[in-house]
Amino acid sequence: MQRTPLLISSILRFGTTLHGDQEVVTWTAEGPRRASYAEVGRQAAQLAHALRGLGVSGDDRVATFMWNNAEHLTAYLAVPSMGAVLHALNIRLFPEQILYIADHGGSSVVIVDNTLAGPFAGLLAHLPKIRHVIVNGPVDEATTAALSAPAHVVGVHDYATLISGQPTEYAWPEDLDEDCASSMCYTSGTTGNPKGVSYSHRSNYLHALTAAMTLGIRQDDRLLVVVPLFHANAWGFPYLAMAAGATLVMPDRFLQAAPLAQMIETEKVSAGAGVPTVWNELLRHLETAGADVSTCRQLVVGGSAAPPAMMRAFQEHHGITIVHAWGMTEMSPIGTVAIPPARCDEGSDEYWSYATAQGRLVMGVEGRLVGPDGSKLPWDGESVGELEVRGPWITASYNRNGTESDGEVAEMAAKFSDGWLRTGDVGSLSADGFLRLTDRAKDVIKSGGEWISSVDLENAIMAHPEVVEASVVGVPDDRWGERPLASVVLRAGSSVTPEQLRDFLADRLARWQLPERWAIIDEVPKTSVGKFDKKVLRSRYADGDLDVQTLS
Ligand code: AMP
Repeated sequence: MQRTPLLISSILRFGTTLHGDQEVVTWTAEGPRRASYAEVGRQAAQLAHALRGLGVSGDDRVATFMWNNAEHLTAYLAVPSMGAVLHALNIRLFPEQILYIADHGGSSVVIVDNTLAGPFAGLLAHLPKIRHVIVNGPVDEATTAALSAPAHVVGVHDYATLISGQPTEYAWPEDLDEDCASSMCYTSGTTGNPKGVSYSHRSNYLHALTAAMTLGIRQDDRLLVVVPLFHANAWGFPYLAMAAGATLVMPDRFLQAAPLAQMIETEKVSAGAGVPTVWNELLRHLETAGADVSTCRQLVVGGSAAPPAMMRAFQEHHGITIVHAWGMTEMSPIGTVAIPPARCDEGSDEYWSYATAQGRLVMGVEGRLVGPDGSKLPWDGESVGELEVRGPWITASYNRNGTESDGEVAEMAAKFSDGWLRTGDVGSLSADGFLRLTDRAKDVIKSGGEWISSVDLENAIMAHPEVVEASVVGVPDDRWGERPLASVVLRAGSSVTPEQLRDFLADRLARWQLPERWAIIDEVPKTSVGKFDKKVLRSRYADGDLDVQTLS
């Protein structure tokens, strides 16, 4: 057989010519804004020419600080296709983490949405590698001045002006190695610094095909992509939509349930992708305010476990199948998809037991279960161990730029075991390859699809002079999935209150990371080796044995 490289430019060319009349719809305050894929193709060429003009060459990185919109999609296609590497920055991280990630990634050019330009200007002084800022949409003079202020910033450009007048065709290089990096994402650090993963053209290409096939995406689909383009490779949706010729509906910053319901109704959305919190809020909205969602056949949910009650309510009240999937940033990200075997009657107990599992390993992803003693465990649906995975879209290493400490290098290496990625997720596999997670190896708190590091919270609380010890665990929360519970030991005689402790944290952590639930305790329970015993705290909470104060 002939061997042509598997490149993002092939996906771009296919989607924007053979499916040129499909469209990307971007939600705005004035309603939908439309661009055909043919227009996206022309603008991708113009953006690539403009980036070359700013000096982007070789495998230079180009960062984005953007919502999900047509211009972000254009960057997703243009930057890798020209041979450069796209680095979508997670706009929701705490500033220190954004700075770490942006600097580690090493981009010299960044594209920023106008609605995010203000906050980004505040970070720019600490990002000396950035020379050019491209602003998508109008901004006032003060913002432009703030973006231009740091001495290392050579130019601040308006996106539309910069690309207008550029040629609408680009000779995408065909001699790129398919194993070259096309893009990268950083995991949210649980302890220490976030870790960078580089996807290749080949890995993205193969992942898009498998994801589209497994999720059953068709060219008549209209896909509502709520999962941010900066999170876990956007679950592959930009590329799989282009490959399938499906239309994309991008919510931009309108992520609340009411506008999402409106998008589904008016744009006749047929499928979507997002974390459980997003669909949970949508469900509540549908049940109170209502909307015509009859065009929607499925919503993919992942990032944290999908609540079974939510899955059933969508199916039974709205005829929408919630497709539960599991993956990781390190896995591009899709590893499993929970589509019950064809023999199961819809709605039967067996059907729900499959549908609510994390899902069946997808074609291309191999898994093995490793017990605490290192032994390989059987796929019997009962034996529980840590899942290790390998496959063509699973990272073989983390990004390094020489600034990492020996400890970080060792920590990164420890994530791999003779060519397999250790997921840190613990569960069982059935004979037909269904993963059921029972626990996480780490104690990270997943709140609304975002990580909260329990260790970061503990450290911040323990920085208070009146605090002796603090331990933070995730506890179930109806709205956010999980929220932190802080258990704190105070110095003898101290009268500091939970409110005061929370105020103390306010300038160290993002607001959404601050715990509402506090318990003042006499001593943090410890394991035999002196570590905080979080299991004990969780069970005390579950049993109602902790005196918890919940702040509003
Ligand atoms: P991220 O890299 O941010 O996507 O986080 C990956 C981690 O999220 C996994 O290692 C799991 O711990 C968790 N996760 C992702 N999907 C699911 C799911 N469907 N059910 C439970 N946990 C999940």
